[in-house]
Amino acid sequence: MRARSPSPPLHALSSCLAMLVVAAAAAAQSGPPRTVAEASEWTATSRAADVAAFVEACRGLAHGARLSVRSAGTSEQGRDLLVVRVAEARGKPFPLRALVIGNIHAGEVEGKEALQLLLRELAAGEHGDVLAHCELWLLPVYNVDGNEAVGPKNRPGQNGPDVVGRRANANGLDLNRDFVKADAAETRALLRLFREVDPHLFVDLHTTNGSYHGYHLTYSPSLSPNVDPGVAKLSRALLDDATATMRAQGFATFDYGNFETRDWDGGGAPESERGVRGWWSYDHRARYGVNYFGLRNRIGVLSEAYSYDGFRERTAATHAFVLSLLRGLVARRDEVLAAAAAADRALAHDAVAFGHATKFAPPERLPVLVGDVAEIAGDGDRPLRRVRKGEAVAETMSVFRAFAASASLPLPEHWAVLAPGPDVLARLSDHGVEHEMLSAPRTVRAQRFAIGSKRKKPKYQGHQEIVLTGGWQEPADVELPAGTVLVAARQRLGRLAATLLEPQSEDSLSSWNYFEATTTERYPVLRVPR
Ligand SMILES: [Zn+2]
Repeated sequence: MRARSPSPPLHALSSCLAMLVVAAAAAAQSGPPRTVAEASEWTATSRAADVAAFVEACRGLAHGARLSVRSAGTSEQGRDLLVVRVAEARGKPFPLRALVIGNIHAGEVEGKEALQLLLRELAAGEHGDVLAHCELWLLPVYNVDGNEAVGPKNRPGQNGPDVVGRRANANGLDLNRDFVKADAAETRALLRLFREVDPHLFVDLHTTNGSYHGYHLTYSPSLSPNVDPGVAKLSRALLDDATATMRAQGFATFDYGNFETRDWDGGGAPESERGVRGWWSYDHRARYGVNYFGLRNRIGVLSEAYSYDGFRERTAATHAFVLSLLRGLVARRDEVLAAAAAADRALAHDAVAFGHATKFAPPERLPVLVGDVAEIAGDGDRPLRRVRKGEAVAETMSVFRAFAASASLPLPEHWAVLAPGPDVLARLSDHGVEHEMLSAPRTVRAQRFAIGSKRKKPKYQGHQEIVLTGGWQEPADVELPAGTVLVAARQRLGRLAATLLEPQSEDSLSSWNYFEATTTERYPVLRVPR
């Protein structure tokens, strides 16, 4: 009903005023919003709704207009993947973009907390040096369904908080093994963000509960041997810069590794040599987000806080590392833009080789900080904790922090995919790999891959991976039927296309059964040589 009087009744007005006064007093008293971690004295971590409310409160700060909140897509259980774009308002698009995700493994919670602290600082007007040149995309809770599946047994041995989310998504998938097969809704949402934003830097925030070392945080660039050499070189330079910046702030950082490494999760990861004292990295395959991202000709960085430091210290190290990387990215912005453009162009013009049969590269002799931990027993619902103990000791040893292909072949002009199913076409589109379907038969000179053996591995991540051996035959005239899909190697994502399509690729669509039905005595993807 419409009020007769142009002004509201007096009692209503006074109660409105009273509410405004109360709200203003509360805001003045509480100041900027605090995270769940801060408000709980670092004994608890935030749920998805806490993060959304915190970001909304940050938008009310003096420079909150820098933040715009979007959904990058929905999780398997229908939750929004909240992503915050942070940029200074201006007319033209930003030349430089960075994307940082937290919580891909939802028990590893400090990325989520560090990104909230960073968002509050940005909303308060800090870090104008970064925003002057770079647009930020921050996605604090990537595995949002895992984040909500909280419990005290999700991360045994971690030095708090006691109750965290679980590693896997709602379908039991490890999202950091899903970047090629893209089975999870979360992965497909992130691939869309990669396509739409095309970040120059992608940072994936984790926590390691592996070997007892002496670092606050360890990191890795993309370890795929098929990353563009210019991009790989610049990735290493950015990590060296960040190491120096972190050292100046009292944080010790180094390449991610373990004193021994095994196929911990049954996925066929490379293993260290038994009895060889060294520092061994993890894997080169594209199923891991950062390795995958390098194949898009851009810089990927894995960040691993140290599980045996306190929750607050881990969050501080992660926050400092993200800022160090962003400052380094901005400082080297001309090189970054040039390297990305050169890598994209190289695919169109240069002869590029595709490497496979990948092994650890020869080691470097470098000092590694060796640490130790003490155990604090759990009781009831309090899980056991391992806590950093004593001073770390530097020991020079063999450091295996890179991989090298032991075989290679030149990229073709095209790959011809015979009778691709809709799942194959969907994945090529998800990855942003350009392809065209023949509407009429076409005769080309092409090579076929004769299968020597086809082995199925034990069940892993919902699949039984296929491993093929065999050899490419001499080129011959082949009539490609209508419906064949041609994928040009001379495209920006030619390196990624090779990884997805080559029969000898160590992490391809074939590995994950996409071509299982069409792989008989020959492989259903042909090479049309240059
Ligand atoms: Zn992790």
